[in-house]
Amino acid sequence: MALSTNCQNPECNKVFQRKNSKKIYCSLNCKNRANYIKFSIENAEEVLWQKKYKKNVKIIDGIFTNGLSKVLKTTLEQVGFDVKYVKSQEKDDNEVIFFEIGNYWLIYLSETEYAIEKINNNERN
Ligand SMILES: [Zn+2]
Repeated sequence: MALSTNCQNPECNKVFQRKNSKKIYCSLNCKNRANYIKFSIENAEEVLWQKKYKKNVKIIDGIFTNGLSKVLKTTLEQVGFDVKYVKSQEKDDNEVIFFEIGNYWLIYLSETEYAIEKINNNERN
């Protein structure tokens, strides 16, 4: 006997008929969407980090692709770059700070300026 129940996808909540009591979603789409929402909530920090990091990579990639190898801190801030979301922060022998962003190093030049360098995996290892 079919029972009516509410779809457990919080964005749907549609009433549907179920034959199997284990069925809690009205469709496969709702099942996937609900799992995605659950994952996003449980991993909110990681999801946010990835999102911000990807944005940073895109910004640096865009600047470098346009032929610039130096960029002002204010310019980066204006386009939404956030230095909190980088893969690693390293110092070389001269105390120069590097940030790893995708395939690039963002190199701290001064209070106001950074250099962008493509990472050459053969060199810097
Ligand atoms: Zn649904």
